[in-house]
Amino acid sequence: MEFLISIHTDKRLLEKLLTPRVVVDSYGYTIIPKRLSCDHCEEDLPITKPGGYALFDTEGTLWELLCESCRQRFHNGSPVYESLEQALRVRRW
Ligand SMILES: [Zn+2]
Repeated sequence: MEFLISIHTDKRLLEKLLTPRVVVDSYGYTIIPKRLSCDHCEEDLPITKPGGYALFDTEGTLWELLCESCRQRFHNGSPVYESLEQALRVRRW
């Protein structure tokens, strides 16, 4: 069963999600800062307060990012954890 991680409480996940992309071309390089947005409605996700979620499957694969209203709409029955570590501990895979 799928589960959600609240992204503002999981610093390690947040760090991974916010890693900027670097594009190298013949002129040099460009750093493209990462912006976190909902994969359903494209609303920006808060990273310092609740309201952004990462959806994982039982394999621990990240599927999508969700805002609060899309979480309620599409994944209301899925458990929410504070961090991936906590989810792993609770679920004992
Ligand atoms: Zn949304």
